[in-house]
Order: sequence, then structure tokens, then C-alpha cells
Amino acid sequence: MHSSRESVLKDVQRITAKYGFGDKDSKWGIKVDRSPSYGGGLGVFATRDFKENEDILVTQPYAHVTDQNYCDGCYSPKDVKKLMKCSRCGFVSYCSKECQTKMWPIHKLECKHIKGILPYSDPPHAGMMCLARMIYTHRANITRNGTLELIEKLDDLWTKENQMNLPLTPQYVNNIPIYMQEPSGSTIPVQTLINYAKKYESHKLLFKNVRNTMILPLLGFFNHHCIPNTYRDNDRGGNNLDYVITASRDIKCGEELFMDYTGTDNRIEKLDFLKTFLHKCLCSTCREINDTGSKEKYYRCHSCNGRVDIRWKSPSLKRYHALCLKCGKEYNVEELEKKGNIIKSNIKEEFNKAPLEIKEMMIKLYKEHFHVLDIFLAEELDHSLDKDSMILLNDPFVFKRIQLQLRHHYGPRSFTAYEMFLKKDIIPKLVKINPDLALYLISSFTTDPKPNLSTLFSNPDPYFDLSLL
Ligand SMILES: [Zn+2]
Ligand SMILES: [Zn+2]
Ligand SMILES: [Zn+2]
Ligand SMILES: [Zn+2]
Repeated sequence: MHSSRESVLKDVQRITAKYGFGDKDSKWGIKVDRSPSYGGGLGVFATRDFKENEDILVTQPYAHVTDQNYCDGCYSPKDVKKLMKCSRCGFVSYCSKECQTKMWPIHKLECKHIKGILPYSDPPHAGMMCLARMIYTHRANITRNGTLELIEKLDDLWTKENQMNLPLTPQYVNNIPIYMQEPSGSTIPVQTLINYAKKYESHKLLFKNVRNTMILPLLGFFNHHCIPNTYRDNDRGGNNLDYVITASRDIKCGEELFMDYTGTDNRIEKLDFLKTFLHKCLCSTCREINDTGSKEKYYRCHSCNGRVDIRWKSPSLKRYHALCLKCGKEYNVEELEKKGNIIKSNIKEEFNKAPLEIKEMMIKLYKEHFHVLDIFLAEELDHSLDKDSMILLNDPFVFKRIQLQLRHHYGPRSFTAYEMFLKKDIIPKLVKINPDLALYLISSFTTDPKPNLSTLFSNPDPYFDLSLL
């Protein structure tokens, strides 16, 4: 067992070296190695230092499917470039002759089947089509980004409990053999299809919506972390099919690189999503939460502004205690939770309807009771974009708090999304209501688009404690 793992690792390192993985002088400066944090499985490690926002890896899919609103060759959206449909099947879109030519070696294998089924049934299921393209690419030995062998190696390492349940949906069993045929005209044997389907289902990535899916073998070795040190940079020029992985903070040589597999910012959704293919999340955040029985509550310590967490006092007694993680002060669990629940439910139910002075009071109470990293307020204010809420952003502490919370929890990815959202939705409205504040917000982006935490808090906020960040 051990030696087979060792040889799998060697194989993987040999194959990934062809795609620029390796020591500090390799193209990317990252390598696959044994991951102590993931029980001796494999992970990807930095072999040099990375600066925040620096590219770690740029890769393109081995196989992908885009919906008709995007060019299948470069993923340009239809509102940016005029798209034309394939004249044979009328199903796949391209922005140019060039993109069509580039995709033809793959599309020629599916085009007539798509044309054949369109009069009788719905357009091909995106997952099925991507699976088919994965098989075509593999069989035709077309050189793409990463090879399917990498995925095979990964599957070899998986324990039984981590294996996907077989996706034996009618789509796979019935449609694929009709849709995909051997060059001889006979259908591909079902067991072969199932083997490929298993790989596809375990490693697919969806982007934008379920009609856009891709398979990226080089990403298979990155482990998941609920607070990752990398993020996907979505808004790049160049070919939009580039999958760019970027450092979300400074990373030291030797650190393991983690991705967030889930694409959601909501922790409950995150864990639900992970359950579909990992039995439980093994990241250090989740392990710490499990080991200590933390309820992941973020209350504020009244003595030191530190974070008060509620944890198991003794799992066997099933009793909780509330403890400041910084100064160790103990709090009464019931009192903390009761007051916290009232404050949150008031904001949830009344905030939108309340007059301005009540809103201000609600926020004041919230700030007194909760630690700066509690995510609730940021999420709630996201949903209440009326005039008053915008005036409340006038409180630079509320605004900075939101920025910081989002950044801390979700990394720059969400931070950027929030920034975009402010620029697009809030600032234009705010210019009419409070031009000074609008200017303040605009300048806070343009002069320091990736604010550094110490300058962000040059104004002392009595409720802030930065030492726990
Ligand atoms: Zn194109
Ligand atoms: Zn076609
Ligand atoms: Zn986790
Ligand atoms: Zn304290």
C-alpha cells in the first residue's frame, strides 16, 4: 500500500512536470507532494514565495462545454462579441472562424449526433456533452491541458468511502450510447462510459451555471480549505477559458496551497456541498471547529475586544462554555446567545422597515455585542439597500467592518465582488444622497484597491481588535 502510494506520487510528479510544476525554477513554482494535513494524501505545495494576488497557475480545461451565450472556443460572452452558430448542428456558438477551427477536432465528433437528436429531444445535457468531449479528447489523444491519467492516479488514491456514487441517471445510461458512438458506429460499452462518467462527476467544475462545465486535471491535486489561500481570478483579459489561480495572501515557500471547492460563501451551503463528495471537510478550520466543539460564534469580549467563542466544556457532559480567545474571560453562554439572537432577529425582521434612528440603534447594539468578524451584519446590509442603509454606510466603521469581514472570511474573491457591487449599485445612488460619502467610497477603492489592514484602521474603533485577525 505504502509503496504503491509512493509510486503514484512519483508518476504524478513526472506528469505534472510536463505542465510546469516543479521546484522554484519551474514554470509555476508549485509541486504535488504528500499532504500531512490531508492524512498523507496528496496536495499542492509552493516551491517558492508568492505575493498576494500573484498568479500561481494558469490552466485551460481538458474538456469543457459552454452554453449558447458564450463562444465555445474562447468563452467570450454574446454581449461582448457577436456569436454565430455552427451551420451543421445549429447548436454550438462561436465568435470567429478561428475559434470554430480550433474546436473542430472535437466538435466534428459530436456535431452529427447533436444534429441527429435535436429534432426528437432536448438539447444534449451539458454534463453529458462534456463527458463525451472528455472521452473524445482522450481517445483522439489530443494534447490539452493536463491529461486524464492524472485523474486516474488521483482515483487510485481515493479510499472507498471517498469514491463517488455511480451517476447512474437515465441521462448517462440511455443518452450517452446514442449520442456517442465508436468510429465503427457501434456504441461505446456501458462499463467504459461509467468509468469515464465517474471521473467526470468527481472532478467537474461548474462555472456561471450548470450549462457551463469543465474538467481541469491539473486542479485535482489541490485540497479544499474553507478559508483558502488561493482564489480563482475570474476577470482576466485574454482567453476567458483560462483558469487562473491566484494567491489570496502572501504565501511562503513550502506552504500547502488550498482552493475553496464550493464557490459559495455561505458556510452551511459550503458544508452541504462538500458532503456530496467528501464525507467531512478535513481543512484545519473545520477540524478546529470539530475538535473544540466550537459553535463558531463571534461575540465581542467586553474587557479586551477579543473574540468570544462558544465551545464544548466537556463533550461527555454536553455543556458549553463561552470563553474569550484572547484574554480567557468566561461569559455566561445563555445570556450571550439570548441577547445575540434578539439583536440578530430584530435586524433581520425590522431593519428594512425601521426609521433611521432605530436602524442606527440596532447597529450600535450589534457592534457592542458581536466581534468584528461576525459575518451577519455584512450579509444583512447586503440585502437592505434602501436609502437609510446607504446613509448608515456613512459610518466608516460599519463600512470598513463589512470590507474586512468579507475579506477575512471569503478572501479577495468575494471582496472584489462586493467592491464591484458597491461601484455598480450603491455609488450611483449615493452620489445623489450623499456626494461626500460617495467620494469617500470611490477613493477608498481607487487609491487603495487592496487595502492593507493596518492602514484600513488608522482611525481607532473602540470595538476593533486586530490581534485576532
Ligand atoms: Zn471565440
Ligand atoms: Zn455543429
Ligand atoms: Zn472546512
Ligand atoms: Zn477578552
